[in-house]
Amino acid sequence: MNKPTNPSEVARETLKQLALRRKLPTPDNYRELYHEIAGTRAAEAFPAADIKTLISSLPKQNNDQAKLVRKLELALANQSWRELSDTLKEFVEVSTAEPPNWATLIRTVIAQIQKRHAGHTSASKRDALESVLAASSSQDALFSRLQSVMRSWGNAAAADDSESEECATTITPDGTGTKPALRELQELMASLLDNAIAMMLTDEPALLAESQALAEAIRNVSDSAGLNRLTERVKKFSYKLHFVAEDQSEMKVALLQLVQLIVDNINELVVDDTWLSGQVTIVRELMGEPITLRRLDDVERRMKDVIFKQSALKHSLNDAKDRLKEMLATFVDRLADLSESTSGYHDKIEHCAERISKANDISELSDVLDEVMRETRTIQVNARRSRDELAAMRVRVDESEKEVVRLQEELANASDLVRTDALTGALNRKGMDEAIEREAARANRQGSPLCMALLDIDNFKKLNDGLGHAAGDAALVHLSTVVQETIRPHDTLARYGGEEFVVIMPDTSMDDAVTAMVRVQRELTRKFFLHNNDKVLITFSCGVAQLGAGEVPAEALKRADSGMYIAKRAGKNRVVPT
Ligand code: GH3
Ligand code: MG
Ligand code: MG
Repeated sequence: MNKPTNPSEVARETLKQLALRRKLPTPDNYRELYHEIAGTRAAEAFPAADIKTLISSLPKQNNDQAKLVRKLELALANQSWRELSDTLKEFVEVSTAEPPNWATLIRTVIAQIQKRHAGHTSASKRDALESVLAASSSQDALFSRLQSVMRSWGNAAAADDSESEECATTITPDGTGTKPALRELQELMASLLDNAIAMMLTDEPALLAESQALAEAIRNVSDSAGLNRLTERVKKFSYKLHFVAEDQSEMKVALLQLVQLIVDNINELVVDDTWLSGQVTIVRELMGEPITLRRLDDVERRMKDVIFKQSALKHSLNDAKDRLKEMLATFVDRLADLSESTSGYHDKIEHCAERISKANDISELSDVLDEVMRETRTIQVNARRSRDELAAMRVRVDESEKEVVRLQEELANASDLVRTDALTGALNRKGMDEAIEREAARANRQGSPLCMALLDIDNFKKLNDGLGHAAGDAALVHLSTVVQETIRPHDTLARYGGEEFVVIMPDTSMDDAVTAMVRVQRELTRKFFLHNNDKVLITFSCGVAQLGAGEVPAEALKRADSGMYIAKRAGKNRVVPT
């Protein structure tokens, strides 16, 4: 047969060859054979799952690496080879860069602490180090901030050395010993310019240079005339800085308004796309309260989970829909084919009837009958084959339809990720509010009791301080796991805030609810939290409240909260019904 050229012929031939070669009619086999017959090249499927595994195995030891991993995940979601390869190159560059030299830095810190500086007391140095330690969320940030503190102490030391040599030229406005205080102020102002203000001016190179020059001048000023000149410079600089600060604050407001506008618009557009509403909700929540870096980070992590899952699902969904369309097109082709071959049969039978009517002898009739039998048999075989093929195709279409429905549901469910707490997997505040509303309505409808327990981990700050924040996080995960394993399947655990959790217990009396929470306490004494193989006992104090008739859930929760406080005051590690 000639090489088929139009898509319907190729599709038909593909189905035929699938049957002849006894290959399973899977989409992959179909695609491969289709391209072989059409002489076209199969577009390679994007190996999203493999790339995802690769990305998740990359180290995220510093900010740069973490940022690039996020960029890679975005490139994967966009299925962009170009972005992936560019970002991977960047990743290799930052990963092979010189690692921060902690040993040298620590030596410098020790040396600078021991050294006497004019502008710093040991208490002020300790405060500076404490605040750097508390404010640095990553090793990278800690390293660069410590470096900058060391630089500013180093400058103070240089000033100190020069001071001892040029004591006579240092300003002493009233000659009554205010010199060290003035020196300290000079150094503080110079550090302010070098650090905090420099950070504000990263987009204003000219002003940044002016700020650095000013810092230098402040450190070096040594007489009253110099001081007067400096005051003029500081005045002018402070005007300019004021404008920059105003611009930055206006920019922040404008950016927030823009985001709000986009979010509102998206929300208008996506009434049918419930899967998108989760992302809109996250951004709206963020805009509703003052923005902090910690909240931004949390939102970014939650968005990333949702977006990644949804984008993978969208691809599968589109693939499934394409396969379905392809199969339906072939289905229609086969029907056309069938009616064509039946009409061919009719023509032939008509022709035979004509020959019969014109036949002159028996032998001629027998030839015609042979032909009739042959044609009839052929059409029978064709019809049976077509019927089988159509039935098989129908099964596959049904399967594909089911797959499309399943994927659509999964896509909608991905939005539910926004209702869970990223650390513990328990419901977050939003998820909890929805669950309580739902259960309260059901309890009112059915007249069944609904209980809520509010539990707060005992002495958690001590655990955090003693074992570190990461161990604190792991303890929260451990507690959630034990609670989830102990409560009944239709009870719900939510993270109420920091180290406080709420358990919603539908269809449960007060006595049973208290018993359930005591059971959780007991389980916690059996399943220890392990930190570096040391057993750590976690206890909690808990208040339990039953939703009263006509009471709003928030009131019941408040009662549970006061029960929890009573439990704390009574010595902790107990359950108090209220
Ligand atoms: P009490 O027995 O009275 O409840 O004392 P406490 O130390 O548990 O209570 P407090 O409210 O003083 O401290 C709660 C601590 O929980 C303070 C906070 O740093 C910590 N915390 C809150 N959220 C998290 C978190 O997500 N991870 C970690 N590791 N700690 C958290
Ligand atoms: Mg607390
Ligand atoms: Mg506590």
